[in-house]
Amino acid sequence: MPIAILLLSQQGVSIAQQIKNSLPDVVTYGLADRVELSDVDLVYHNFGETIRSLFCSGFTIGAVCASGIIIRSIAELLNDKWQEPPVLAIAEDGSAVVPLLGGLQGANAIAREIAAIFNTEAAVTTSGDIRFRTALLAPPAGYRLVNPEHAKTFLSNLLAGQTVKLEGHAPWLMQSKLPFADDAELTIQITETQGTPNDRTLVYHSPQLDACSGKLFVIGTGPGADRWMSPEVRQVLQQSTDWVGYTTYLNLVEPLRIHQIRHDSDNRVELDRARQALDLAASGRSVVVVSSGDPGIFAMAAAVFEAIETDDKPEWRSIELQICPGISAMQAAAARIGAPLGHDFCVISLSDILKPWSVIEQRLTAAAQGDFVMAFYNPISTQRRWQLDRTRELLLQFRSGSTPVILARSVGRSGELIQVTTLENLKAEDADMRTLIIVGSSQTRVLAREHHSLPWVYTPRRYQVEGEG
Ligand code: SAH
Repeated sequence: MPIAILLLSQQGVSIAQQIKNSLPDVVTYGLADRVELSDVDLVYHNFGETIRSLFCSGFTIGAVCASGIIIRSIAELLNDKWQEPPVLAIAEDGSAVVPLLGGLQGANAIAREIAAIFNTEAAVTTSGDIRFRTALLAPPAGYRLVNPEHAKTFLSNLLAGQTVKLEGHAPWLMQSKLPFADDAELTIQITETQGTPNDRTLVYHSPQLDACSGKLFVIGTGPGADRWMSPEVRQVLQQSTDWVGYTTYLNLVEPLRIHQIRHDSDNRVELDRARQALDLAASGRSVVVVSSGDPGIFAMAAAVFEAIETDDKPEWRSIELQICPGISAMQAAAARIGAPLGHDFCVISLSDILKPWSVIEQRLTAAAQGDFVMAFYNPISTQRRWQLDRTRELLLQFRSGSTPVILARSVGRSGELIQVTTLENLKAEDADMRTLIIVGSSQTRVLAREHHSLPWVYTPRRYQVEGEG
């Protein structure tokens, strides 16, 4: 069922558009004469009639208005909680998302998804959900509760202190805070067959785990983790079952985790991480490999293909694989300071772990001769200290000492620091492993700004060749 977002005034338009960009199947409705026609999908004339008709048709409803307006409009229809679709009140600035109704149809999960878009918490009040950190009545994609009619008694017994045992495999429940015990009074069955549903046994039908049903997404979170993350990446993170990645990157997306299992790894083991993700996907799970920035730029996407090619396992070749792009560090760094990548540029990793230093020197020389702007990834690390100084020396053979250099550290994250210096003043101490460096071309310009210690730096689109200008 689609999500209907109802607007009463123009103020809610930006909220509605952000929700539409982040979630699938969203239709926006604007009140005639109050909301610009071009800003919404559909126009309505009477709020009460519209919300009642959507409610009766089973739409998930998010109304950008006071909860009182919603409650009074649908009060007369509220008599069957099993039939209620999710109804949410959303504050017009996105600061509050309140699941009012439809807890049994996933209202809390949807409220959390919408709240995550605005970096806030959903106002969840359902005791089971809060206490057990899981919504028994709204299981994740692929699981279906067979006997919702028994759920009310089951849940009140749990809330009253009874314990539960799990039969079958359900990672989303294993991670919850349900009071598991071997001699429990209550049972949850995960099965592909009938099961024995009753008010002491909840039965879920589980996904068929056949060998070809797995999916692998390799995503990039962008340089930070929130406002530069694409809607596609948000959606994939939320709809998957497993997250694989370097701990630092998994921590960045942790606020978006609902029931997914984390598989943390060390920074240096990209191939093992890729193999682990491929195996999980081949076993039928929906797996996300988390990279920072763009996953195809010095990151996990290539590692996944290396593993597929090297190990040559047939089951990996039938995995449905999707790479979801992200904003790379060089784009974010450039945007912070102006437009240094406005003309031809090249991108070089200064790490000589996976390629010989002689190759790097040769490429630096060629790029300097070609008068490219250069973006350097991996400029330095604790083990690699001299490479950046050597790079400066080499570039100075071709480029003026006054060439602008941008050092952008931890762009979009806490501790962000952007500095502008010149090639002759570039010092290895000014960079660390979270720094992206941009070295200008002969054309790159520095413009001083009023009331601002940092200048603008840009590279014009036109290339002026001496004598031909
Ligand atoms: N896939 C990433 C790059 C990973 S390589 C991307 O597309 O951005 C790691 C290097 O990327 C770091 O050494 C640093 O040079 C750069 N980097 C990654 N995130 C950064 C950030 N937030 N700020 C500045 N540089 C960053």
